[in-house]
Amino acid sequence: MAAEVRLGQTVIYLEDKREKITTRLGCLSVGERYQDFIGDPFMVPVWDCCLCKTAPEVLRKKNGKWLYRCSGCGKEVVGKEKWQGILRWNRKNCFGKTLAEIPFPALQQESSPQSVVDYLDEYFSLKKKEVGLTRQIAQLTGKRPPGKVYQKRVEAFYEWAEL
Ligand SMILES: [Zn+2]
Repeated sequence: MAAEVRLGQTVIYLEDKREKITTRLGCLSVGERYQDFIGDPFMVPVWDCCLCKTAPEVLRKKNGKWLYRCSGCGKEVVGKEKWQGILRWNRKNCFGKTLAEIPFPALQQESSPQSVVDYLDEYFSLKKKEVGLTRQIAQLTGKRPPGKVYQKRVEAFYEWAEL
């Protein structure tokens, strides 16, 4: 019985947390069109190392993660998925790149792209948390969790926004 009470309290706590995030997301929805994205978030071009101007080596680690490493300067990043590794690699090599290379149309249209960048960053980090909490609640209550593809897309958009 005690375990059930604890479970109930945990669910209430998580729902409460999610409620706050949802409210904040509601406030952010004024910038709805900022979230438009051109193309497939998982199709990511690999940028050259910004120092060495060469493409990185790609290695699949024993744990299944993807490693992108520059053979020139040794800079490296790891991602659970390939697209994640590339986006993280690109983030380290975005020096000299323009916002035009990031496929959020709002970045090209707005006169102050920084506000769009801040918006996207906040929006998708909250969205990621919201989806994570929904998944946790679903696990505890036996409800259907959010779809895997949907979760991955949110994660991919977040990584793009972080560029
Ligand atoms: Zn390098």
